[in-house]
Amino acid sequence: MRDTAIAYDEMLSVMGRQMQPNDIRKLTALLGHRDIISLAAGAPSSETFPLEELAEIAARVIRTHGQFALQYGPTRGPQPLIEGIAEMLRGRGIATATPSEVVVTSGSQQGLDLVSRLLIDPGDVAMIELPSYIGGIIALHNAQAEMVGVQQDDGGLIIDDLRQKLAGLLKAGRRVKCIYTIPNFQNPSGVTLAVERREQLIQIADEFDLLIIEDDPYFDLAFTEAARPQPLAALRPERVIYLGSFSKVLAPGLRAAYVCAPAEIAAKVEMAKEGADLSSSVLDQAIVLEALRSGLIEKRLPELRQFYEVRCRAMLNALAEFAHAGARWTRPTGGFFILLELAGKIDATEILMQALDSGVAYVPGQPFFIDGSGANTLRLAYSKETPEKIGEGVARLGRVLQGAQRAEAV
Ligand SMILES: *Cc1c(COP(=O)(O)O)cnc(C)c1O
Repeated sequence: MRDTAIAYDEMLSVMGRQMQPNDIRKLTALLGHRDIISLAAGAPSSETFPLEELAEIAARVIRTHGQFALQYGPTRGPQPLIEGIAEMLRGRGIATATPSEVVVTSGSQQGLDLVSRLLIDPGDVAMIELPSYIGGIIALHNAQAEMVGVQQDDGGLIIDDLRQKLAGLLKAGRRVKCIYTIPNFQNPSGVTLAVERREQLIQIADEFDLLIIEDDPYFDLAFTEAARPQPLAALRPERVIYLGSFSKVLAPGLRAAYVCAPAEIAAKVEMAKEGADLSSSVLDQAIVLEALRSGLIEKRLPELRQFYEVRCRAMLNALAEFAHAGARWTRPTGGFFILLELAGKIDATEILMQALDSGVAYVPGQPFFIDGSGANTLRLAYSKETPEKIGEGVARLGRVLQGAQRAEAV
Protein backbone atom coordinates (compact mmCIF):
# COMPACT_ATOMS: atom_id res chain seq x y z
CA MET A 1 0.00 0.00 0.00
CA ARG A 2 1.25 3.45 -0.86
CA ASP A 3 1.33 5.81 2.08
CA THR A 4 0.84 9.30 0.71
CA ALA A 5 1.92 10.84 4.01
CA ILE A 6 5.54 10.01 3.33
CA ALA A 7 7.40 12.99 1.88
CA TYR A 8 9.75 11.08 -0.39
CA ASP A 9 11.22 14.25 -1.79
CA GLU A 10 12.53 15.24 1.64
CA MET A 11 14.26 11.91 2.00
CA LEU A 12 16.32 12.48 -1.10
CA SER A 13 19.80 13.95 -1.13
CA VAL A 14 20.25 17.47 -2.44
CA MET A 15 21.42 15.94 -5.71
CA GLY A 16 18.54 13.48 -5.78
CA ARG A 17 16.10 16.36 -5.48
CA GLN A 18 17.86 18.33 -8.18
CA MET A 19 17.62 15.54 -10.77
CA GLN A 20 15.13 16.33 -13.52
CA PRO A 21 14.11 14.46 -16.67
CA ASN A 22 16.19 15.78 -19.57
CA ASP A 23 14.52 17.44 -22.53
CA ILE A 24 15.57 14.84 -25.08
CA ARG A 25 13.90 12.02 -23.12
CA LYS A 26 10.76 14.15 -22.87
CA LEU A 27 10.87 14.62 -26.64
CA THR A 28 11.28 10.88 -27.26
CA ALA A 29 8.18 10.27 -25.14
CA LEU A 30 6.31 12.87 -27.18
CA LEU A 31 7.28 11.24 -30.49
CA GLY A 32 5.54 8.08 -29.36
CA HIS A 33 4.10 6.16 -32.27
CA ARG A 34 3.35 9.07 -34.56
CA ASP A 35 4.41 8.77 -38.19
CA ILE A 36 7.20 11.26 -38.05
CA ILE A 37 10.55 11.49 -39.83
CA SER A 38 12.98 11.60 -36.95
CA LEU A 39 16.02 13.80 -37.30
CA ALA A 40 16.03 13.79 -33.50
CA ALA A 41 17.37 10.44 -32.33
CA GLY A 42 21.11 10.48 -31.75
CA ALA A 43 21.49 6.74 -32.22
CA PRO A 44 23.12 4.59 -34.89
CA SER A 45 20.83 3.13 -37.52
CA SER A 46 19.69 -0.33 -36.40
CA GLU A 47 20.09 -1.32 -40.07
CA THR A 48 23.83 -1.28 -39.44
CA PHE A 49 23.79 -3.96 -36.73
CA PRO A 50 25.45 -7.15 -38.03
CA LEU A 51 22.63 -9.39 -36.80
CA GLU A 52 23.67 -12.70 -38.34
CA GLU A 53 27.30 -12.36 -37.33
CA LEU A 54 26.36 -11.34 -33.78
CA ALA A 55 23.83 -14.18 -33.50
CA GLU A 56 26.54 -16.64 -34.49
CA ILE A 57 29.07 -15.08 -32.10
CA ALA A 58 26.59 -14.98 -29.21
CA ALA A 59 25.65 -18.64 -29.68
CA ARG A 60 29.30 -19.67 -29.92
CA VAL A 61 30.30 -17.59 -26.88
CA ILE A 62 27.61 -19.20 -24.72
CA ARG A 63 28.18 -22.74 -26.02
CA THR A 64 31.94 -22.76 -25.84
CA HIS A 65 32.80 -20.15 -23.17
CA GLY A 66 29.49 -20.02 -21.32
CA GLN A 67 30.90 -20.94 -17.95
CA PHE A 68 33.10 -17.88 -18.20
CA ALA A 69 30.72 -15.53 -20.04
CA LEU A 70 27.81 -16.10 -17.64
CA GLN A 71 29.89 -15.91 -14.44
CA TYR A 72 30.88 -12.73 -12.52
CA GLY A 73 33.86 -11.14 -14.19
CA PRO A 74 36.79 -8.91 -13.25
CA THR A 75 35.80 -5.26 -12.64
CA ARG A 76 38.27 -3.92 -15.19
CA GLY A 77 37.06 -6.31 -17.88
CA PRO A 78 38.37 -9.66 -19.20
CA GLN A 79 42.14 -9.45 -19.77
CA PRO A 80 41.98 -10.41 -23.49
CA LEU A 81 39.45 -7.62 -24.14
CA ILE A 82 41.56 -5.08 -22.26
CA GLU A 83 44.58 -6.15 -24.29
CA GLY A 84 42.57 -5.95 -27.52
CA ILE A 85 41.39 -2.42 -26.67
CA ALA A 86 44.92 -1.29 -25.75
CA GLU A 87 46.20 -2.61 -29.08
CA MET A 88 43.39 -0.84 -30.95
CA LEU A 89 44.23 2.42 -29.15
CA ARG A 90 47.92 2.10 -30.03
CA GLY A 91 46.69 1.86 -33.62
CA ARG A 92 44.96 5.21 -33.05
CA GLY A 93 48.28 6.80 -32.15
CA ILE A 94 47.94 6.48 -28.37
CA ALA A 95 51.35 4.81 -28.32
CA THR A 96 51.49 4.44 -24.54
CA ALA A 97 48.19 2.55 -24.19
CA THR A 98 48.77 -0.66 -22.20
CA PRO A 99 46.32 -2.85 -20.29
CA SER A 100 47.14 -1.00 -17.05
CA GLU A 101 45.64 2.16 -18.57
CA VAL A 102 42.40 0.59 -19.79
CA VAL A 103 39.11 -0.06 -17.96
CA VAL A 104 36.00 -1.40 -19.69
CA THR A 105 32.81 0.48 -18.76
CA SER A 106 29.09 -0.10 -19.26
CA GLY A 107 28.90 2.39 -22.12
CA SER A 108 30.93 5.58 -22.19
CA GLN A 109 28.12 7.03 -20.12
CA GLN A 110 29.37 5.07 -17.14
CA GLY A 111 32.91 6.25 -17.88
CA LEU A 112 31.69 9.85 -17.86
CA ASP A 113 29.85 9.30 -14.59
CA LEU A 114 32.77 7.59 -12.82
CA VAL A 115 35.37 10.06 -14.07
CA SER A 116 33.21 13.05 -13.09
CA ARG A 117 32.80 11.68 -9.58
CA LEU A 118 36.52 10.94 -9.30
CA LEU A 119 37.61 14.44 -10.32
CA ILE A 120 34.94 16.75 -8.98
CA ASP A 121 34.20 18.00 -5.48
CA PRO A 122 30.99 20.04 -5.22
CA GLY A 123 31.65 23.45 -6.74
CA ASP A 124 34.80 22.50 -8.67
CA VAL A 125 34.74 23.89 -12.18
CA ALA A 126 34.65 21.82 -15.38
CA MET A 127 35.11 23.66 -18.68
CA ILE A 128 32.78 22.40 -21.40
CA GLU A 129 32.04 23.27 -25.01
CA LEU A 130 29.12 25.46 -26.09
CA PRO A 131 27.23 23.35 -27.07
CA SER A 132 28.18 20.02 -25.43
CA TYR A 133 26.86 16.46 -25.09
CA ILE A 134 23.86 16.06 -22.78
CA GLY A 135 25.21 12.78 -21.34
CA GLY A 136 28.42 14.52 -20.31
CA ILE A 137 26.51 17.46 -18.86
CA ILE A 138 24.33 15.09 -16.80
CA ALA A 139 27.37 13.23 -15.43
CA LEU A 140 29.14 16.45 -14.45
CA HIS A 141 25.94 17.87 -13.01
CA ASN A 142 25.38 14.78 -10.86
CA ALA A 143 28.94 15.15 -9.54
CA GLN A 144 27.95 18.73 -8.59
CA ALA A 145 30.45 20.36 -10.91
CA GLU A 146 30.04 23.96 -11.84
CA MET A 147 30.22 23.98 -15.62
CA VAL A 148 31.62 26.94 -17.52
CA GLY A 149 30.99 27.06 -21.26
CA VAL A 150 33.62 27.82 -23.89
CA GLN A 151 32.64 29.20 -27.30
CA GLN A 152 33.03 27.04 -30.39
CA ASP A 153 33.30 27.83 -34.08
CA ASP A 154 33.75 25.65 -37.16
CA GLY A 155 37.23 24.71 -35.89
CA GLY A 156 35.88 23.56 -32.51
CA LEU A 157 36.66 25.03 -29.10
CA ILE A 158 37.99 28.61 -29.34
CA ILE A 159 41.31 28.60 -27.53
CA ASP A 160 41.37 32.33 -26.74
CA ASP A 161 37.96 32.14 -25.09
CA LEU A 162 39.11 29.14 -23.04
CA ARG A 163 42.28 30.93 -21.94
CA GLN A 164 40.39 34.10 -20.96
CA LYS A 165 37.79 32.23 -18.95
CA LEU A 166 40.41 30.12 -17.19
CA ALA A 167 42.38 33.22 -16.25
CA GLY A 168 39.20 34.85 -14.90
CA LEU A 169 38.25 31.78 -12.87
CA LEU A 170 41.73 31.49 -11.43
CA LYS A 171 41.69 35.15 -10.44
CA ALA A 172 38.34 34.59 -8.71
CA GLY A 173 39.94 31.79 -6.70
CA ARG A 174 37.98 29.00 -8.36
CA ARG A 175 39.32 25.49 -8.63
CA VAL A 176 39.20 24.33 -12.23
CA LYS A 177 39.71 20.60 -12.61
CA CYS A 178 39.13 19.60 -16.19
CA ILE A 179 38.12 20.37 -19.74
CA TYR A 180 35.46 18.07 -21.19
CA THR A 181 35.70 17.92 -24.97
CA ILE A 182 34.29 15.88 -27.86
CA PRO A 183 36.94 16.76 -30.43
CA ASN A 184 35.71 14.64 -33.37
CA PHE A 185 32.36 15.19 -35.16
CA GLN A 186 30.93 16.54 -31.96
CA ASN A 187 27.54 15.67 -30.59
CA PRO A 188 25.56 17.92 -31.09
CA SER A 189 27.40 20.21 -33.53
CA GLY A 190 29.23 17.86 -35.90
CA VAL A 191 32.29 20.12 -35.57
CA THR A 192 35.87 18.78 -35.35
CA LEU A 193 38.66 20.41 -33.34
CA ALA A 194 41.28 21.81 -35.73
CA VAL A 195 44.71 20.17 -35.62
CA GLU A 196 46.60 23.29 -34.51
CA ARG A 197 44.10 23.86 -31.70
CA ARG A 198 44.80 20.37 -30.36
CA GLU A 199 48.38 21.36 -29.63
CA GLN A 200 47.20 24.60 -28.04
CA LEU A 201 44.64 22.81 -25.90
CA ILE A 202 47.35 20.50 -24.56
CA GLN A 203 49.53 23.53 -23.79
CA ILE A 204 46.69 25.10 -21.83
CA ALA A 205 46.13 21.90 -19.86
CA ASP A 206 49.84 21.92 -18.96
CA GLU A 207 49.86 25.61 -18.16
CA PHE A 208 46.76 25.56 -15.93
CA ASP A 209 47.42 22.06 -14.59
CA LEU A 210 44.16 20.53 -15.81
CA LEU A 211 43.04 17.15 -17.06
CA ILE A 212 41.28 16.76 -20.39
CA ILE A 213 38.30 14.40 -20.63
CA GLU A 214 38.34 13.40 -24.30
CA ASP A 215 35.06 11.79 -25.35
CA ASP A 216 35.65 10.19 -28.76
CA PRO A 217 32.89 7.70 -29.73
CA TYR A 218 32.90 8.74 -33.40
CA PHE A 219 36.65 8.36 -34.07
CA ASP A 220 36.14 5.45 -36.47
CA LEU A 221 33.30 7.19 -38.29
CA ALA A 222 35.44 9.79 -40.07
CA PHE A 223 34.19 9.82 -43.65
CA THR A 224 37.72 10.00 -45.07
CA GLU A 225 41.23 9.20 -43.91
CA ALA A 226 42.09 12.91 -44.04
CA ALA A 227 39.18 13.72 -41.70
CA ARG A 228 40.61 11.60 -38.88
CA PRO A 229 42.85 13.73 -36.64
CA GLN A 230 45.02 12.33 -33.88
CA PRO A 231 43.35 12.02 -30.49
CA LEU A 232 44.51 14.46 -27.83
CA ALA A 233 45.55 11.38 -25.87
CA ALA A 234 48.05 10.59 -28.64
CA LEU A 235 49.64 14.02 -28.18
CA ARG A 236 49.89 14.06 -24.38
CA PRO A 237 48.58 10.91 -22.68
CA GLU A 238 49.62 12.18 -19.22
CA ARG A 239 46.96 14.92 -19.40
CA VAL A 240 44.12 13.01 -21.01
CA ILE A 241 41.36 10.69 -19.86
CA TYR A 242 40.25 9.15 -23.14
CA LEU A 243 36.81 7.58 -23.60
CA GLY A 244 35.82 5.42 -26.55
CA SER A 245 32.84 3.18 -27.22
CA PHE A 246 31.64 0.26 -29.33
CA SER A 247 28.14 1.77 -29.41
CA LYS A 248 28.48 3.59 -32.72
CA VAL A 249 30.57 1.00 -34.58
CA LEU A 250 28.85 -2.19 -33.41
CA ALA A 251 25.65 -1.86 -31.35
CA PRO A 252 24.78 0.31 -28.34
CA GLY A 253 22.68 -2.45 -26.79
CA LEU A 254 25.97 -4.17 -26.03
CA ARG A 255 26.97 -1.85 -23.22
CA ALA A 256 30.67 -1.93 -23.86
CA ALA A 257 33.00 1.05 -23.88
CA TYR A 258 36.38 1.92 -22.42
CA VAL A 259 38.36 4.51 -20.53
CA CYS A 260 42.07 4.91 -21.22
CA ALA A 261 43.81 7.04 -18.60
CA PRO A 262 47.13 7.34 -16.78
CA ALA A 263 47.50 4.10 -14.76
CA GLU A 264 46.96 5.84 -11.42
CA ILE A 265 43.62 7.25 -12.60
CA ALA A 266 42.61 4.02 -14.35
CA ALA A 267 43.07 2.22 -11.02
CA LYS A 268 40.68 4.72 -9.38
CA VAL A 269 38.15 4.28 -12.20
CA GLU A 270 38.28 0.55 -11.51
CA MET A 271 37.61 1.11 -7.78
CA ALA A 272 34.71 3.48 -8.51
CA LYS A 273 33.29 0.99 -10.98
CA GLU A 274 33.39 -1.82 -8.46
CA GLY A 275 30.97 0.16 -6.32
CA ALA A 276 28.76 0.98 -9.28
CA ASP A 277 28.22 -2.43 -10.90
CA LEU A 278 31.03 -4.90 -9.96
CA SER A 279 31.64 -5.35 -13.67
CA SER A 280 30.05 -4.65 -17.03
CA SER A 281 27.99 -7.46 -18.53
CA VAL A 282 30.49 -10.28 -19.04
CA LEU A 283 28.36 -11.69 -21.85
CA ASP A 284 28.35 -8.35 -23.70
CA GLN A 285 32.09 -8.09 -23.25
CA ALA A 286 32.68 -11.64 -24.48
CA ILE A 287 30.63 -10.88 -27.62
CA VAL A 288 32.53 -7.64 -28.24
CA LEU A 289 35.84 -9.43 -27.72
CA GLU A 290 34.91 -11.96 -30.41
CA ALA A 291 33.76 -9.18 -32.75
CA LEU A 292 37.07 -7.41 -32.18
CA ARG A 293 39.27 -10.52 -32.41
CA SER A 294 37.58 -11.92 -35.53
CA GLY A 295 38.04 -8.60 -37.35
CA LEU A 296 34.27 -8.08 -37.70
CA ILE A 297 34.42 -4.51 -36.37
CA GLU A 298 37.38 -3.48 -38.51
CA LYS A 299 35.99 -5.16 -41.62
CA ARG A 300 32.69 -3.25 -41.47
CA LEU A 301 34.16 0.23 -40.97
CA PRO A 302 34.46 1.24 -44.66
CA GLU A 303 30.82 0.28 -45.21
CA LEU A 304 29.67 2.10 -42.06
CA ARG A 305 31.55 5.27 -42.98
CA GLN A 306 29.94 5.25 -46.38
CA PHE A 307 26.51 4.58 -44.88
CA TYR A 308 26.70 7.74 -42.77
CA GLU A 309 28.50 9.85 -45.37
CA VAL A 310 25.72 9.25 -47.90
CA ARG A 311 23.15 10.34 -45.30
CA CYS A 312 25.18 13.37 -44.31
CA ARG A 313 25.44 14.44 -47.93
CA ALA A 314 21.68 13.98 -48.41
CA MET A 315 21.07 16.27 -45.46
CA LEU A 316 23.58 18.91 -46.60
CA ASN A 317 22.04 18.92 -50.09
CA ALA A 318 18.53 19.23 -48.68
CA LEU A 319 19.59 22.08 -46.38
CA ALA A 320 21.11 23.93 -49.35
CA GLU A 321 17.79 23.52 -51.14
CA PHE A 322 15.23 24.05 -48.37
CA ALA A 323 16.75 26.06 -45.50
CA HIS A 324 15.38 29.57 -45.09
CA ALA A 325 17.43 32.64 -45.97
CA GLY A 326 20.05 33.53 -43.37
CA ALA A 327 20.25 30.07 -41.78
CA ARG A 328 23.73 28.59 -41.17
CA TRP A 329 24.75 25.04 -40.56
CA THR A 330 27.85 22.97 -39.82
CA ARG A 331 29.53 20.64 -42.34
CA PRO A 332 30.60 17.47 -40.56
CA THR A 333 33.37 15.24 -41.88
CA GLY A 334 32.15 12.27 -39.84
CA GLY A 335 29.71 11.22 -37.11
CA PHE A 336 25.94 11.70 -36.95
CA PHE A 337 25.03 15.38 -36.50
CA ILE A 338 24.57 18.79 -38.07
CA LEU A 339 23.82 21.88 -35.99
CA LEU A 340 21.47 24.30 -37.72
CA GLU A 341 21.49 27.93 -36.64
CA LEU A 342 18.28 29.74 -37.53
CA ALA A 343 18.15 33.29 -38.81
CA GLY A 344 16.89 36.12 -36.65
CA LYS A 345 15.25 35.28 -33.36
CA ILE A 346 13.40 32.13 -34.38
CA ASP A 347 13.23 29.90 -31.29
CA ALA A 348 13.73 26.20 -32.13
CA THR A 349 11.77 25.08 -29.04
CA GLU A 350 8.77 27.26 -29.92
CA ILE A 351 8.39 25.82 -33.41
CA LEU A 352 8.96 22.19 -32.40
CA MET A 353 5.22 21.43 -32.08
CA GLN A 354 4.59 22.84 -35.53
CA ALA A 355 7.43 20.72 -36.91
CA LEU A 356 5.99 17.59 -35.26
CA ASP A 357 2.58 18.40 -36.73
CA SER A 358 4.30 18.71 -40.12
CA GLY A 359 5.85 15.27 -39.65
CA VAL A 360 9.45 16.00 -38.74
CA ALA A 361 11.30 15.88 -35.42
CA TYR A 362 14.58 17.41 -34.28
CA VAL A 363 16.17 18.30 -30.95
CA PRO A 364 16.19 21.99 -29.97
CA GLY A 365 19.78 23.12 -29.36
CA GLN A 366 19.34 25.07 -26.14
CA PRO A 367 19.69 22.17 -23.64
CA PHE A 368 23.16 21.52 -25.08
CA PHE A 369 24.30 25.04 -24.17
CA ILE A 370 25.21 25.26 -20.49
CA ASP A 371 24.97 29.08 -20.51
CA GLY A 372 21.36 29.06 -21.72
CA SER A 373 22.22 30.39 -25.20
CA GLY A 374 21.50 28.53 -28.44
CA ALA A 375 17.72 29.09 -28.52
CA ASN A 376 17.97 29.64 -32.29
CA THR A 377 19.81 26.37 -32.91
CA LEU A 378 18.67 22.82 -33.44
CA ARG A 379 20.38 19.46 -33.79
CA LEU A 380 19.68 17.39 -36.88
CA ALA A 381 20.76 13.74 -36.83
CA TYR A 382 21.25 12.02 -40.19
CA SER A 383 22.05 8.69 -38.56
CA LYS A 384 18.66 7.00 -38.42
CA GLU A 385 16.56 7.70 -41.51
CA THR A 386 17.13 6.77 -45.18
CA PRO A 387 18.60 9.43 -47.52
CA GLU A 388 15.16 9.84 -49.13
CA LYS A 389 13.45 10.42 -45.78
CA ILE A 390 16.20 12.80 -44.70
CA GLY A 391 15.54 14.87 -47.83
CA GLU A 392 11.80 14.85 -47.19
CA GLY A 393 12.29 15.63 -43.48
CA VAL A 394 14.46 18.67 -44.23
CA ALA A 395 11.95 19.83 -46.85
CA ARG A 396 9.17 19.66 -44.23
CA LEU A 397 11.37 21.50 -41.75
CA GLY A 398 12.17 24.13 -44.39
CA ARG A 399 8.47 24.88 -44.85
CA VAL A 400 7.99 25.29 -41.09
CA LEU A 401 11.00 27.59 -40.86
CA GLN A 402 9.89 29.71 -43.79
CA GLY A 403 6.51 30.13 -42.09
CA ALA A 404 8.23 31.14 -38.85
CA GLN A 405 10.41 33.63 -40.70
CA ARG A 406 7.39 35.22 -42.39
CA ALA A 407 5.60 35.41 -39.03
CA GLU A 408 8.68 37.06 -37.50
CA ALA A 409 8.85 39.63 -40.29
CA VAL A 410 5.20 40.67 -39.77
C1 LIG B 1 26.94 8.22 -28.30
C2 LIG B 1 27.89 8.98 -27.47
C3 LIG B 1 28.62 8.34 -26.46
C4 LIG B 1 28.56 6.84 -26.27
O1 LIG B 1 27.67 6.45 -25.36
P1 LIG B 1 27.62 4.94 -24.82
O2 LIG B 1 27.26 5.12 -23.39
O3 LIG B 1 28.98 4.35 -25.00
O4 LIG B 1 26.60 4.25 -25.62
C5 LIG B 1 29.49 9.10 -25.70
N1 LIG B 1 29.67 10.41 -25.95
C6 LIG B 1 29.03 11.04 -26.93
C7 LIG B 1 29.33 12.47 -27.21
C8 LIG B 1 28.10 10.35 -27.72
O5 LIG B 1 27.45 10.99 -28.70
